[in-house]
Amino acid sequence: MEKSDLANEFGQKRPESFWLISAPSTDYPSLDEDRKADVAVIGGGMAGITAAYLLVNEGLNVVLLEADRIARGTTAHTTAKLTSQHGLIYEQIRNQMGEEKARQYAEANEEAIRFVAQLIEENKIDCDFGRQAAYVYTLDETFIPKIEKEQQAAASLGIKAFYQTEIPLPLPVKAALRFDEQAQFHPRKYLLALAAKIRERGGFLFENSKVIDIEGDGPYTLLTANHKKVTTPVVIQATHYPCHNLPGLYFTRLYTERAYAVAAKIAAPFPGGMYINAEQPARSLRALPTDEGERVLVVGEKHKTGHGQDLAEHYYNLMAFAQELFPVEEFSWRWSTQDVSTVDDVPYIGRMTAEHPNIYLATGFRKWGMTGERLPGFFCVT
Ligand SMILES: Cc1cc2nc3c(=O)[nH]c(=O)nc-3n(C[C@H](O)[C@H](O)[C@H](O)COP(=O)(O)OP(=O)(O)OC[C@H]3O[C@@H](n4cnc5c(N)ncnc54)[C@H](O)[C@@H]3O)c2cc1C
Repeated sequence: MEKSDLANEFGQKRPESFWLISAPSTDYPSLDEDRKADVAVIGGGMAGITAAYLLVNEGLNVVLLEADRIARGTTAHTTAKLTSQHGLIYEQIRNQMGEEKARQYAEANEEAIRFVAQLIEENKIDCDFGRQAAYVYTLDETFIPKIEKEQQAAASLGIKAFYQTEIPLPLPVKAALRFDEQAQFHPRKYLLALAAKIRERGGFLFENSKVIDIEGDGPYTLLTANHKKVTTPVVIQATHYPCHNLPGLYFTRLYTERAYAVAAKIAAPFPGGMYINAEQPARSLRALPTDEGERVLVVGEKHKTGHGQDLAEHYYNLMAFAQELFPVEEFSWRWSTQDVSTVDDVPYIGRMTAEHPNIYLATGFRKWGMTGERLPGFFCVT
């Protein structure tokens, strides 16, 4: 297909996320009266729902406040790989922060995969969960030493990372690393099931209840746009980008990047596995099981939010890449979203500041927030 044909592929159809159209919508009430809670969670994405679920299981009175509908934010536009393989990261963290912190990062992400898998099994959640190997590969010779170093760093942290010179995709790969026992899933099917469990176990979920202010020095009063309040000694801000931004001045240490996704129907079996390249422009792939058969999800083309050129160009580039790799029959869906990164590439999770020890924050997942929630600092509500 030529570029002009690619441009016409979606016609006037607006971008829509497969994750949104393939799982039911929700209809939780909005906060209609003032309430008290042991913990208030702001934000109903992967971070907020996971936090609320864990805290409800501890027997706490939890109120989750979501500005829109739950699981419709970045979590509903992700690639949904559950993996500790985050491109080239372990050598970087080891150099920047030392062995101990790099080990924590590795173990937390591995633990998150086990946690999600166990939860799905225990609760029999039907969310297209599947074990996959995760590959980071390069087509660029100058990246070979980086892949070698990453293999050594990952291995020293206890991750089984296998060096390869070929991967199952038809690409002229120079070097690659394979992490086994990783996984993929449908994030909304998973989170909607968790949300139902939160309600069953006595937690409260309120949609269309945007928090517009956090008042007081503890206990805190959360004020919503619908003029209702939640009073609580503990607040977790899981709003993707912090909504209460002044304490800690996090806006000086965070930036957002937009990335794009297209789902292709191909006339050949996808070989399995999840993939990402080490160099730029980023290309991330995984299979996408749908009721209409398997698709291949191709994600990438990141740029700082607001710095994109012709936005359609980013979709064409991904579509052209898919066509080079596979016999593409059609492109079924496309969408884009953004995630928050930190200046040191490690998420900020934990107490917001020493002055506000009971306001917690979870942000800066750098496009790896499906497993980032298990990083140290999260859920240690005291
Ligand atoms: C293109 C792309 C691909 C990705 N692929 C992967 C991947 O394969 N694996 C992986 O691990 N990660 C991936 N990520 C990252 C991951 O999707 C995100 O890190 C994660 O979804 C963030 O979850 P969250 O709960 O922090 O945010 P969100 O899902 O955005 O949830 C935040 C919620 O807070 C609500 N909110 C905001 N302000 C307020 C307020 N004032 N009051 C009440 N509610 C509020 C929002 O409405 C929203 O529902 C990817 C990211 C991108 C951009």
